[in-house]
Amino acid sequence: MATNEELFARAQRVIPGGVNSPVRAFRAVGGTPRFIQRGQGAYIWDAEGQKYVDYIGSWGPMILGHGHPAVVDAVQKALLDGFSFGAPTEREIELAEAILALVPGCEMVRLVSSGTEAGMSALRLARGATGRAKFIKFEGCYHGHADPLLVKAGSGLATFGFPTSAGVPEDVVKHTLVLPYNDIPALEAAFAEHGRELACVMIEPIAGNMNFVRASLPFMTLLRELCTQHGAMLVFDEVMSGFRVALGGAHSLFQQWIPGFKADVFVFGKVIGGGMPLAAFGASKEVMSQLAPLGPVYQAGTLSGNPVATACGLATLKEIAKPGFYEALGARTTALVRGLEAVAKDVGVPLVGDSLGGMFGFFFEQELPQNYATVMATDKERFNRFFHGMLQRGVYLAPALYEAGFVSAAHTQADIDHTLEAARESLLALKN
Ligand code: PMP
Repeated sequence: MATNEELFARAQRVIPGGVNSPVRAFRAVGGTPRFIQRGQGAYIWDAEGQKYVDYIGSWGPMILGHGHPAVVDAVQKALLDGFSFGAPTEREIELAEAILALVPGCEMVRLVSSGTEAGMSALRLARGATGRAKFIKFEGCYHGHADPLLVKAGSGLATFGFPTSAGVPEDVVKHTLVLPYNDIPALEAAFAEHGRELACVMIEPIAGNMNFVRASLPFMTLLRELCTQHGAMLVFDEVMSGFRVALGGAHSLFQQWIPGFKADVFVFGKVIGGGMPLAAFGASKEVMSQLAPLGPVYQAGTLSGNPVATACGLATLKEIAKPGFYEALGARTTALVRGLEAVAKDVGVPLVGDSLGGMFGFFFEQELPQNYATVMATDKERFNRFFHGMLQRGVYLAPALYEAGFVSAAHTQADIDHTLEAARESLLALKN
C-alpha cells in the first residue's frame, strides 16, 4: 500500500505540482496532500486508510454526502444506456426544468461541463446581449479561470485590472474593472465613470472563494439599482452558493431580503452535477435567445448535457427538494459554527463564524471580515496550525484560510461533536 507521501512524490513526476487543481497541493498550509481512496456519507478515507470527517465535499457538490444510494442508483442505470451521444437527450430537458423550477426569474438554461465554462459563457452572453465590453468583478470573487475573469487587482481603489496569472495578456483584461467587495463608494464611483460602458457586473452573492463573506444588503440593493439605471446586467455566480445556501440559492435569499430583487444572468455548477462534471448558465428567454443556434453569441460543448452527469444531477436535485432538507442541513451547519465559537471562547482564542444552509466559514478574529483585504489580514499562521491539528484528529477542513467549508446532509450530530472535540484539542495545542 503506497503512502500519501509516496503517491505525492510519484504524482509530482507526471502532473505539475502533483495535482490537477492547485489548492489540492496544500501549498497554503504546507504538508503532504492526502490521496483519497474512497468516500461514504460524511467521511473520506485516504490511501493509508485514515478516515476523515469531510468538510470539503469536493468543494461543494457533495451536498448529500458521498455515495448516496439514490444517486448511485441513478448513475448506474444511466451508465448502462451509454456514456455520451453528442445528441440531445430527454434527461437534459428534465434537468433544465428542475433547475428553472427552483430559481424563479431564470427562464432558460444551457448546460455545460464546468463552472469555468459557465462563467466564461455568461460573460460572453452579457457582452453579446448588451453590445458592451467592460464589466465589473470584485476582489476575492472567483468565477473560474477564463482569461478576462482571472483578475484580482490589488488595492481598494477602482482600477482596471492587471492579470493575476502569467499567460493572460494585459489587453485581454483591459475591460475588467475590479472593485473591493461590499464597498459602496467604490461601486458608486465606478458606475459614475463607466456605467454606460458596462456589459455586466459579476458577483458571488455569498462569496465562498475568500472564505465565507456575505454581500451586505445595502451593497446588493445599490448594485441592483445601478445596474438597472445603466443598462448593465447583474450576473449572479451561484456555482458555489446555488442549491447550497438555500434550495433556491443565494438568489432566493436576496429576493426575501430585498423586495422586488432579481438578477439578470445566473451561473450554476457543483450541486447541480452532484459530483459529476456539470454546470449551467441561464437568464430570461429573451437574453438566452442571443445564444447559438438562435442568436449570434457562440457557445458549444462535446460533453455538454452529458447523460451520466445529468442523471447524477437530477437525482441530487430530487433529494434536496424534499421537505425539511435545508432546515436540517442549516441546523447542523449552525451547530458546527456556533460550537466552534463556543469552544474557542472556552479556550481563549478569538474566533468568529458564519453560515447559510450547508456553507460556512470561520476566522480567527473578533468580527466577520467584509472583503478580501480583511480576510487576508486574518491570522494565517494560526489557521494553518489549526488545519493540521484538525487533520491529525481526523477532520478534513479546506486547506487554505480563503476557502469556505461545506456540511452535507450525511453529517450527523456525532460528527459535529467529534469535530468540536478535535477543535478543542487543536486550539489548546495552539496555545502551548
Ligand atoms: N464560480 C465559483 C463561484 C466557484 O466557486 C468556482 C469553483 N470553485 C467556479 C466558478 C469555477 O468552477 P469550476 O471549478 O467547475 O470550473
